[in-house]
Amino acid sequence: MGAPGSGKGTQAQRLVASYRIPHVSTGDILRKEQEQGTPLGLRAKQIMEAGGYVDDETMLAIIRNRLTQPDAARGFILDGFPRTVAQADGLAKLLAEIEQPLDVVVLFEVNTEQLVKRLSGRRVCEFCKKVFNVHTAPPSVPPECVAGRGEHQVVQRADDAEDTVRERLRKYEEKTRKPVSGFYSYTGLVRTVDAEGDIDDVTKRLFETLNAGRAEESPAPAATKPKVKSARRTAPARKKAKSAGRAKVKAKAGAKSKRKARARAVTRKPAKAAARRAAGAKRRVAPGGRRKARRR
Ligand code: AMP
Repeated sequence: MGAPGSGKGTQAQRLVASYRIPHVSTGDILRKEQEQGTPLGLRAKQIMEAGGYVDDETMLAIIRNRLTQPDAARGFILDGFPRTVAQADGLAKLLAEIEQPLDVVVLFEVNTEQLVKRLSGRRVCEFCKKVFNVHTAPPSVPPECVAGRGEHQVVQRADDAEDTVRERLRKYEEKTRKPVSGFYSYTGLVRTVDAEGDIDDVTKRLFETLNAGRAEESPAPAATKPKVKSARRTAPARKKAKSAGRAKVKAKAGAKSKRKARARAVTRKPAKAAARRAAGAKRRVAPGGRRKARRR
């Protein structure tokens, strides 16, 4: 997860080289549909140029189709998906169905003005598709573009125009960053990466974070921690509060320590179950009769 321009696509490509699993970018899939002039591509073009989101049902169908391809059987890196709570919810169900629970949710953090500069300065070579930036990484000659061409022919993506960029960032903040990171905060899988500065430094921080083996409880820095009000967040929270209330009454009634411990366990259950569901883990009954989450 990360705002448009936070570099998640670039970093995902670097992860592909190490993990040897496919990079699934929903933005790239939609751009390919556009190039091919399919009905979906034509519909997506208008939405993308206005900085909007393609509808959840369409996006979930795209993801289902992609993640059930044979090359994704060993795993995959999602980039730009899920972007809404409905997509995150649909993804959790799909992952449970195909028994591929999430291992980690990486949240790239970059200052908004940096993002505007990165995106509005971005240029793509029409021929070799290499990405440049007029401020930080202008096209160089040599090396040459594709064989037979001397110079790159760079163009600006329609959705990289400054007004569209600001709308995309607003949409990300409203629909994605707060609600979707809130959805995943229960899983304990969220890790935040400072994605400002040099690309190689970000890659280093990303690998350090992935290798650290410890997930953060909250995806947002304390000072800017969002108040999440999505249905996903409030339902388990309500259950937890109810159970906590029941546990308190039991304790007051003078239950013995064994019973208190059982009550404490009850209060933890709903949050754990919600976390398992958000990560897309399936539940199964172990031979001894105890339920366990199937995690890979
Ligand atoms: P990206 O290349 O990831 O920045 O995506 C480019 C554009 O494609 C976005 O601004 C959206 O209009 C659309 N898009 C990509 N992924 C999604 C998604 N998961 N949900 C809705 N729209 C998407």
